[in-house]
Amino acid sequence: MAKVSFFIIFAIIMVLNSKSKEAFEQACKTIPGGVNSPVRAFGAVGNDPLFIESGHGCHITDIDGNKFIDYVCSWGPLILGHLEESVLESIKLTLEKGTSFGAPTQLEIQLAELVTDAVPSIEKVRMVNSGTEATMSAIRLARGYTGRDLVVKFDGCYHGHVDGLLVQAGSGATTLGSPTSPGVPQDYIRNTLTIPYNDIDVVKEVCDKKGKEVACIILEPIAGNMGVIPPKKGYLEGLRELADSHGIVLIFDEVMTGFRVAYGGAQELYNVTPDLTTLGKIIGGGLPVGAYGGKSQIMDFISPNGSVYQAGTLSGNPLAMASGIATLKKLQEEGVYQRLELSSERLAEGFRKAAVDAGVPTYHARVGSMLCTFFHDGEVVDYESAKGCNTQRYASYFHGMLERGVYFAPSQFEASFVSTAHGGEDIDATIQASSEVMKSLK
Ligand SMILES: *Cc1c(COP(=O)(O)O)cnc(C)c1O
Repeated sequence: MAKVSFFIIFAIIMVLNSKSKEAFEQACKTIPGGVNSPVRAFGAVGNDPLFIESGHGCHITDIDGNKFIDYVCSWGPLILGHLEESVLESIKLTLEKGTSFGAPTQLEIQLAELVTDAVPSIEKVRMVNSGTEATMSAIRLARGYTGRDLVVKFDGCYHGHVDGLLVQAGSGATTLGSPTSPGVPQDYIRNTLTIPYNDIDVVKEVCDKKGKEVACIILEPIAGNMGVIPPKKGYLEGLRELADSHGIVLIFDEVMTGFRVAYGGAQELYNVTPDLTTLGKIIGGGLPVGAYGGKSQIMDFISPNGSVYQAGTLSGNPLAMASGIATLKKLQEEGVYQRLELSSERLAEGFRKAAVDAGVPTYHARVGSMLCTFFHDGEVVDYESAKGCNTQRYASYFHGMLERGVYFAPSQFEASFVSTAHGGEDIDATIQASSEVMKSLK
């Protein structure tokens, strides 16, 4: 009986995804693995990726015409959902004036001012094209500024695919089973000290031994690339103190959390001030953008003011700036974050109840509109505990949800994102689906 229903479900999936299947086969011939970023592959959940035709609000539609409620939201940028009107309008208006000049535009000033107003620790900000570029540049700057080489990073924190940071790097690397990538010379990572997240005593030990050689401590103030793991109480404050007493640059990688958990990011939420901040995702509103910023005293080490070199042909691209500006302006509107909080809370509570009612061991984490259901019996507080999750059960859950029209990230180690476009009905439909799928997992 179980076998028969398995084949029926399998056959349904085959029919529903025939165009995506074909597209994937075609893609694999000219694109490595058929995807331009490994997290898009469905390998960890044992299937082929869906090819997307369009998005609108909180929905995406694949090329077979299947419609899903989207909780990936382009991996975070789309906090307003797909094709939000004011963002679209802003991009269109800018497009008509030209796509790129390689010379300054006023749009860059506008976005810089929006960012510095939102995040008081950022006095000056440099635009780049991705989060990876932002963290890579911030680390170079921290090293140039301090004249030191060592970087402290944390297990399971992802900061993009920067050579020296691809050590125990969470996210796609964890999903694919190579947390530290081949192709990164031992010499490059000799200067990266990787230690467990959320354990201030280990940081203290490292600082006591090597503090005077450490250029920077870089972390996700809320880890969002090994599921969602909030900082323990006092942890960020502890890092701030240690950085101060050893002359270390403290970098918050807020590529995911910036403008996500609060308008001023995690540093506003926890009231801890870093020296440098990296941004990305939301500040591009769905177009390619990254940024890094901080105290003027440090930022002025960057060329052309200073001698730390960093550049970009398309940096500050008008279309990307227009998209970011419109997104941030929309986020300034009254009550946006309160509404996001309410719908995310309702969703997370629904997930929790669905799991409890079905008797499936899970651990639920949420900060604002970032959330994660860990298939784990017990708390998840760091990379070690995150790795203890039942990833096979996640895969079954993922497929069950997909069949019911809910699109999650194809990996246990990713956050789900709620956007302002997710309405009450979408949230309720998602909870209903979750409760059905949880029961089927027993
Ligand atoms: C997504 C992400 C990055 C990398 O950004 P890309 O634009 O993908 O290069 C870096 N840090 C964090 C915390 C991220 O979530």
